[in-house]
Amino acid sequence: MEDLDQFRSEVREWLEANCPESQRQPITAAEQFWGGRRAKFPSEDARLWYERMRDKGWIVPEWPAEYGGGGLSDQQGKIIKDEMKRINARTPVYGIGIWMLGPAILEYGNEQQKQQHIRAIINAETRWAQGYSEPGAGSDLASLQCKAEDMGDHFLVNGSKIWTTNADKCDWIFCLVRTDPEAKKQEGISFLLIDMDTPGISTTPIELISGESEFCQTFFDNVKVPKENLVGELNKGWSVAKALLVHERKLMAEMGSDSPRKIVVPNEAAHKYLEFEDGRIADAQLRSDLADYNMQMHAIALTHFRTFEEKTSGVRSAAPLVMKYLGTEAEKVKSELLLAIMGSRGLGWEGEGFEQDELDTLRLWAMSKAFTIAGGSSEIQLNVIAKSVLELPQNKEK
Ligand SMILES: Cc1cc2nc3c(=O)[nH]c(=O)nc-3n(C[C@H](O)[C@H](O)[C@H](O)COP(=O)(O)OP(=O)(O)OC[C@H]3O[C@@H](n4cnc5c(N)ncnc54)[C@H](O)[C@@H]3O)c2cc1C
Repeated sequence: MEDLDQFRSEVREWLEANCPESQRQPITAAEQFWGGRRAKFPSEDARLWYERMRDKGWIVPEWPAEYGGGGLSDQQGKIIKDEMKRINARTPVYGIGIWMLGPAILEYGNEQQKQQHIRAIINAETRWAQGYSEPGAGSDLASLQCKAEDMGDHFLVNGSKIWTTNADKCDWIFCLVRTDPEAKKQEGISFLLIDMDTPGISTTPIELISGESEFCQTFFDNVKVPKENLVGELNKGWSVAKALLVHERKLMAEMGSDSPRKIVVPNEAAHKYLEFEDGRIADAQLRSDLADYNMQMHAIALTHFRTFEEKTSGVRSAAPLVMKYLGTEAEKVKSELLLAIMGSRGLGWEGEGFEQDELDTLRLWAMSKAFTIAGGSSEIQLNVIAKSVLELPQNKEK
């Protein structure tokens, strides 16, 4: 414990000395750095901050040092995160390589894949897209049809993936592909890493209600993929896919609290926009909704804390399975509540006449719906909880 206290003081001191003042402000979407072949730093300070964190090994403190991580424990990683949050330090580089693919490669990849891809993610040289969903295979992901035929020295990939976020800006895509059409659906799937510059790949953007999130449909037309890009065993990609989804759902559960924008907090919004009588919010319904929301958030924060403690002490816990559902649904409730509190001030989509916070709140309201779908919809999460946590009887036909 004393060691951790000592570590916390060192982290605090290092961050004070190394995090530029401009990198301690709320970040806008345009200021986020995602890395990749075509990426540019939004400012010199952003570059300096990223490079200092990379050289310190703190881009992902818990990843092994031999691949560019910090080689630190989960507890030390959490201390770094907490201390960064304390001074509002910006995330130096974003990416699903860090959040989702990296942990899956560390678990299932071979040494060559770890050396190549983990290091490139830390060095912000590669930006990754996720190729899971297909038209007709979203919730029922195992029905996917995009196929990879074994051609001896390579796979030949044909088909398409949909909702591939920012695929048009990414360098690589990890894909679930069907390698055995005869096998039971989960058993004929493999996990491939594909360079987006390979001939035969094209992307078509799809616009979203928030006006921001850039979805694509990604097409594969006779795309040759080297055999060494297979992660894990042939036809055993479903295990890799599920492990990666655990990381995706953890990310989604915390999405709202890690928003790049300055977060408008319902309690503060209430003071700004609502009338008070005798020190209480005058509107009884809003008063009650706000109290419910605060209690729910407190319970979620305690559960997050419990999950972390259970993980670090090696206790198997069902909590991570429920956090995606709870976190994203709470984010939706928060957004609805904020709009109710702001009244007509919360209805601005763009233009003058509204403060930036007000415009952001409406856009986050639209995005909050998406969080409950991405990475597995709330209905699917409830199915998982029914099966794996509550052990309720299942529909035998499935
Ligand atoms: C913001 C965002 C980013 C995304 N990014 C990516 C990405 O980068 N790569 C990628 O591959 N995919 C991505 N997705 C796609 C996402 O994984 C799918 O949208 C999701 O899995 C749901 O699939 P679907 O859209 O096909 O809906 P469907 O599966 O068609 O579901 C439609 C509705 O039916 C309900 N439903 C379906 N089956 C059941 C059931 N068995 N029981 C109860 N209800 C059911 C669902 O809950 C949903 O409400 C993203 C989605 C979003 C919103």
